[in-house]
Amino acid sequence: MTHRCPYCLTSTFSTVDGLEAHAEECSEEEVTCPMCGGRKTQHLHGVSFSGDEMEEMGLEFREDYASGMFEHPCDHCRGSGKTTRGSWQWHLESEAERRVGA
Ligand SMILES: [Zn+2]
Ligand SMILES: [Zn+2]
Repeated sequence: MTHRCPYCLTSTFSTVDGLEAHAEECSEEEVTCPMCGGRKTQHLHGVSFSGDEMEEMGLEFREDYASGMFEHPCDHCRGSGKTTRGSWQWHLESEAERRVGA
């Protein structure tokens, strides 16, 4: 039975103690924010549109979108472009919970 680190997903340990010792440091490790990919900003809280959907929204919307009108600091990293593994893991878990609750 091996225990895989839920943060980096690469380190495995044969004991829970080993995992916990690693996970404590691992969760604090700084990583590029996965939500914005390090760009620090996102559009409309991460909503993305397909080409067809963009077409339906009309020209005015597309112009506003292209001009960055809907751009705002990333919801997750608050515009820093960085986060910690632990913080991102927490985000994924709360997302999963929200889906279950919905
Ligand atoms: Zn790890
Ligand atoms: Zn971000």
